[in-house]
Amino acid sequence: MPSSAPVSSDAVNALNESERKRIEAKSALFAPPTPVTEDGRRELVGLSREELAEVLTEIGEKPFRAKQLWHWIYHQGVTDFSRMSTIARPLQAKLEKHFIVGRPSLTTQQTSKDDTRKFLFRFRDGQEAETVYIPDRREDRGAVCISSQVGCTLSCTFCHTGTQKLVRNLGAAEIVGQFMAARDSYGEWPSPKGDTPRLLSTIVLMGMGEPLYNYENVAKAMKIIMDGEGIALSRRRITLSTSGVVPMMDRCGDELGINLAISLHAVRNDLRDQLVPLNRKYPIEELMAACHRYPAASNSRRITFEYIMIRDVNDSDAEARELVRLIRGLPAKVNLIPFNPWPGSDFRPSTRERLASFAQIVMDAGYAAPIRMPRGKDILAACGQLKTQSERKRQAESRRNEA
Ligand code: SAH
Ligand code: SF4
Repeated sequence: MPSSAPVSSDAVNALNESERKRIEAKSALFAPPTPVTEDGRRELVGLSREELAEVLTEIGEKPFRAKQLWHWIYHQGVTDFSRMSTIARPLQAKLEKHFIVGRPSLTTQQTSKDDTRKFLFRFRDGQEAETVYIPDRREDRGAVCISSQVGCTLSCTFCHTGTQKLVRNLGAAEIVGQFMAARDSYGEWPSPKGDTPRLLSTIVLMGMGEPLYNYENVAKAMKIIMDGEGIALSRRRITLSTSGVVPMMDRCGDELGINLAISLHAVRNDLRDQLVPLNRKYPIEELMAACHRYPAASNSRRITFEYIMIRDVNDSDAEARELVRLIRGLPAKVNLIPFNPWPGSDFRPSTRERLASFAQIVMDAGYAAPIRMPRGKDILAACGQLKTQSERKRQAESRRNEA
């Protein structure tokens, strides 16, 4: 076939399928530890409904108990079996013997002068990740920014997390646990039903890590959070941000139907190759094609293109015009994020004039282009500033510990 012939969609699918397998195999190398306490009790948070029924059967209980437990864990937010009042005392004691309903432990919590709250959570193996709650300035609602990995394999040059090597993936228990623990902090239990206002009203998978490199755990966690008899957060209120893991985008759209945000940051491959090195693997044309295929995108549910405004790097009017050309035909909005500095980075945010001029060009083309002023900057909680001290144990060290 001559190289200029169009690639058929079957060919794209086959290519994506083999890439997906490769990504999933790599992801498994960074799997989280099984969520079990030192005294052998099984963590119930993070199990699917089916798994919950299975572990109950294993201790000789009827699977229908899963529905009851689900309600107490995810609707009521109860962590203590003795407070599950619809369950008889002897069974409460038995559950307590075998299981635990836990939370990641809170290492530190800081609240910014703009009320943004950053949590540093520690998991059972001592690894840590950050979660941020960003309240709306005008209404009693807000977004919880959740981490999907400890560290990141990608090393986008503008991102603080990118300077921390990938330590491991977070498990479903740890991903759901971040949301539940943040909710504990605001006392928002039981889960508000239907359209009742919520303080923690949206989730953005925009914390540490690349969620599409930990798809299985992220997907499991989001299914738990979306379940109508528990936390019951609608898929319309969840946004996953990716630096552009093209082969996993289709899966995410088909299986979860949540909103998508793309960390674009550059409109030419030569520049994006430098800023977001994953672009060398999945260049802009492939990324945009995957956006066109994304099933959840419609006019009411637009794809968000995140664009960090870095002074004299990617912020010219010509680039704004090229951005408009790229997204044409897509239900899209553009978030312009002035670069947030962090210790050790040489980049600077764009000037006010540049931000305004760039935004105007995008808006004139009919797209929303809000300029996202940083929140929680005084506590290093703003986009791209998250980083923990966790490091991957060197192999020699972990062998020594296992011996
Ligand atoms: N890995 C995913 C999810 C993390 S989201 C992704 O990259 O999309 C984190 C968001 O913050 C991304 O849009 C990222 O590009 C942005 N970001 C990273 N460093 C930043 C910085 N220094 N200033 C502003 N935004 C930044
Ligand atoms: Fe990883 Fe996203 Fe940071 Fe890039 S921007 S290093 S993909 S967390």
